[in-house]
Amino acid sequence: MDAPPHFTVFGVPVRVEPFFFVIIALLGLAYGEPLYIATWVGLAFVSVLVHELGHAAAFRHYGHQPSILLHGFGGLTSARAALTPGRSIVVSLAGPLSAMVLLGGPAWLAVVSGWGDMSPEAEVILFQALFINIGWSLLNLLPILPLDGGNVTAAVLEYFTPRNARRIAAGVSVVVAVALGLVAVAYGLVFGALVAGFFAFTNLRELRSRPQQDVADKLVGTLQALLAGDAAAAEQLARAALASVRHPDDQRWLRELVAWCRLFQGDAGPAASLSAAAASQPDNRPSSTLEAGVALASGRVAEGLSVMAWALVNEPRSDARVLGALLTARLGLAPQVVDELVRLDGGREGAALLRDVLQRTGDLQGAQELERRIAEG
Ligand SMILES: [Zn+2]
Repeated sequence: MDAPPHFTVFGVPVRVEPFFFVIIALLGLAYGEPLYIATWVGLAFVSVLVHELGHAAAFRHYGHQPSILLHGFGGLTSARAALTPGRSIVVSLAGPLSAMVLLGGPAWLAVVSGWGDMSPEAEVILFQALFINIGWSLLNLLPILPLDGGNVTAAVLEYFTPRNARRIAAGVSVVVAVALGLVAVAYGLVFGALVAGFFAFTNLRELRSRPQQDVADKLVGTLQALLAGDAAAAEQLARAALASVRHPDDQRWLRELVAWCRLFQGDAGPAASLSAAAASQPDNRPSSTLEAGVALASGRVAEGLSVMAWALVNEPRSDARVLGALLTARLGLAPQVVDELVRLDGGREGAALLRDVLQRTGDLQGAQELERRIAEG
């Protein structure tokens, strides 16, 4: 969310566009009575907010910073994060389940228990709460993108066919949205038919063009997960991205990225075989930082230290330099590599990168120690 938030709930920034209230009020006009229109708008606002806070809590659980936007067609909770399929399913389900459990359940209990002689006003308001929190939540779970149910469908498909998951989910969305639209028309629900038509249209457009955005998200997510110390999640993202790229250069880098992820999990095998294969195919050479990483991981420490120092200065790929610095930091070898770096031409930049990586991963003492060595060197 780029515009500033209007308020925060439990530390989550929330922005509400006026159009949100306009659409909700229009939907409530059928009640006729000002009291019921007001309770409808209030209940819808609180319920959508609880739904979005459910998504936000799940994002937070995985260490991301979410923000919420309530717009004309509902709510949106986003975080700058690429999620693994499993996490994506949890985040998607957390929204509708929160609204159903926290608000729909109590409203339903109140209705079935009858509450003796409930006043007509209380009855109408309870049914409003039921309609919004149970009815809308169930609709929201239909397998239509971009509804939560559509996102769950896409994430489940990623387990079976990462390359085609979004496209298949978009195809399913078109079919279900068209069916829903026909039902809405049959029952004379004009607004419902319009919304279903809109979903069918956007998914058809998605089917026509599904470019590389998905892959770019996964690349960013892989690096973020590695920096956060979750190499297994990073590997899942890198493998999913690998399944969907066609260009040989992209494939080569992603194969290397998978090897990095294995290396961070203590398995130097894939990195070593990339290095070995490069001997016969110089065009397929992995980054020099990865070759240094293989030496370090297989106990050739003296060789690894000097190759890593050289690579942190000369490796052309900046993401490969960051990964080399991160691995050096993880192995606890940052001070030794900095000592080599300060003796190299242009080595200060590499030393500064190592210091930044230590800072970024929360090792402030280590970063200060490097600063001292850089100043002395
Ligand atoms: Zn949702």
